[in-house]
This record gives sequence, structure tokens and C-alpha cells, in this order.
Amino acid sequence: MSRPSKIIIDLAAIQANCRLAQSIAPRSKTVAVIKADAYGHGAVEVAKSLEPQVEMFTVSCLEEALVLRENGLSKPILLLEGCFDISELKIAADNQCELVVHSRLQLEQLLDTTFVTAINIWLKIDTGMHRLGISPQEVGSVYAKLAASKNVKNIVLMTHFAHADHVHGEHTAMQISRFEECIQPIIDNANQKVELSMANSAALLAWHQTRMDWNRPGIMLYGLSPFAGPIEVASKLIPAMNFESQVIALREVSTGESVGYGCTWEAKRPSVIATIAVGYGDGYPRTAKSGTPVLINKQRAPLAGRVSMDLITVDVTDLANVQIGDNVLLWGKELSANEVASWAGTIGYELVTRMPRRVTRHFVS
Ligand SMILES: *Cc1c(COP(=O)(O)O)cnc(C)c1O
Repeated sequence: MSRPSKIIIDLAAIQANCRLAQSIAPRSKTVAVIKADAYGHGAVEVAKSLEPQVEMFTVSCLEEALVLRENGLSKPILLLEGCFDISELKIAADNQCELVVHSRLQLEQLLDTTFVTAINIWLKIDTGMHRLGISPQEVGSVYAKLAASKNVKNIVLMTHFAHADHVHGEHTAMQISRFEECIQPIIDNANQKVELSMANSAALLAWHQTRMDWNRPGIMLYGLSPFAGPIEVASKLIPAMNFESQVIALREVSTGESVGYGCTWEAKRPSVIATIAVGYGDGYPRTAKSGTPVLINKQRAPLAGRVSMDLITVDVTDLANVQIGDNVLLWGKELSANEVASWAGTIGYELVTRMPRRVTRHFVS
């Protein structure tokens, strides 16, 4: 265990972020979104730590759900894209999965299968994201077919927002009104309460009208704000992933000398360069530009030169007392992954989700 690059996952922070989500919408139930290995944080460990406080989990596919079942998780699991193939339906049902139905094809497959016990369906309506979901015009007929099927127990009506991080944007307001409009006839005709689900993290935090029976927070559980700018409630989130490494070499570089591949950074003064054992092979983005902040002994220093596979170089000329073996934080509690992402042309979601296996993961709670 010699390579110093590692991620430390703070499960207590994830629990606290989840409590924050729940306190914002105390009348809603929570479907914790743990797809893509809990956005790179470790789905099994995250699920176990959240299981006592949430009603349900969601992942993107059956494979992700089965990993949770194999590891003893017993709460219901929603498959966000439903089944990709008719052969998955029975396995999903046998494993207490609930299914999104987002297309006519999935509807037909569901109606063509015979289950031992009926399952819960989340009918996804395309109100303006235009990625998945049935059109608002089809909702009545699809709902009626589902409701008449012996395969179907409960039906939740859901939609997903394209731009809820735009706090006063018209697009979200339009999606909300399209959703309300197309579900109203169903609510009017139903002889029982129809459950609804709209909010992802951004909507939950910024659009109070979207807090329905079920909220679907994802990124906020991991302590990252879904918003580009500062928003008060989001400032209470605690980043759960600390990405750390160490300084493994130090050198003095004369004025005019360049550092790293492609010679893209040049010393404008006699400089001290710290080399850190982390690179794009560890999930640090290669697109991070010179100037991207790195925290060494809790002090900020700028990236100098290109990110290589195993190493980065940082200009520590202005830092006091940097030594080989010093701890480096690439992102985490004192340096947001969103800030690093903004230097790399991406978003915090992507940085935390695509961490490679080479980086060892350590859990604290
Ligand atoms: C990923 C996802 C979420 C969670 O989104 P965040 O922005 O991470 O909160 C919610 N709903 C659906 C359908 C999703 O695909």
C-alpha cells in the first residue's frame, strides 16, 4: 500500500446531507440516488449508512441493484431506466426492484410478462427534458393500461428537470406546469391518492413547488452543490469525498525553464515546484489548466504545467515550508470538487463519479 493517492469517504457527512434534504421537505419521502456506485462514493457502503434514514434507493440498472441485494440491502430499489430487455423483468421483480417505465416499448414488455407478485411502477413523463419519458398527451392511456394490469401494484407519476439549477429559470416553471396539467385528470379520476415525484437535488433545494411525495436527491447527498453560484442552503452541504495524495519531490526551477509535458508552463521567476503523486490515471482531470488550486498543508497553490498520468506539478514558490511527504488535498472539504471542475471544463458530478479503481477508497464514519 505505497501509492499515496486515495479517497476518503465520510459516511457521516452523507448522513448529515441526507438529513438536510429531509429537513427541507419534511412531508416528502426520500429515494436516495446511488447510481454509478453512489457517484463514485461506494454504493454498498453509502446504502448501508443511509438505510436507516431513507425509504428507498435508486440506481440506473439491474446490475447495480443486484450488487446491493448481494450485499444484504433490503429496502426497495428503483431502476431509473427500467429494464433494458424483457429478460430482466422477472429478475427485477424477484429482487424487489421497482421499475421506471419511460416508453411504449417498456409498457408492452411489462404487459407481456407474467409476474408472481405485482410490482411498483414509476411512470416517467417527458415534460421538457426530451431524453426519456412518455409524452404528456399519452399519460392518460398509458396510465390506464398500467392500472388495469395484474402485474402492477402502485404507480408513481414522475418527471425530471433539465435546468432546475437555474434558480429562476422559465424552463423549470414550464415543466412543472406541464406535469401538473397532464396528471390532473388522473388525480381527478383516481379513487386513491396518486403519488408524485419531481425533485432532484437542485429542485429540492431551489423549487419548493417540486417537493412531492418522493424526492430524488443525488449530488447533494455527497455534499456537492448542484448550483454554479453560491446559494445559502447549499452552503450547509458537507463534501463527503476527500481526494488526497502527497508531495513526493521538490525542485528549484530557474526563470525561463518550463515544467511538464508540452512545456506549457514557464517559470516567470525563480520557482519551487512540488511534484505530487496523482494524475489522470487516478482521476485527476487532465483538462485541469495551470492555475487550478491544490491544497498543500491547507494552503492553496496553483497547478503548473500539464497533468500527467501519475503526477502533477504545483508552483509552491509562495508557500512556506513545503516538504516531501506533505499531505495534498486535490478536492474535498476545504476545496470543492466543483471549483476544481470549473478549471477543467466540467462539473463536480463528473469528477467524483469517474474515480478509477487504482485510487484506494477508505471509509470513515
Ligand atoms: C440522477 C438523477 C437524479 C438525481 O439528480 P441530482 O442532480 O444528482 O440530484 C434524480 N432523478 C433522476 C431521474 C436522475 O437520473
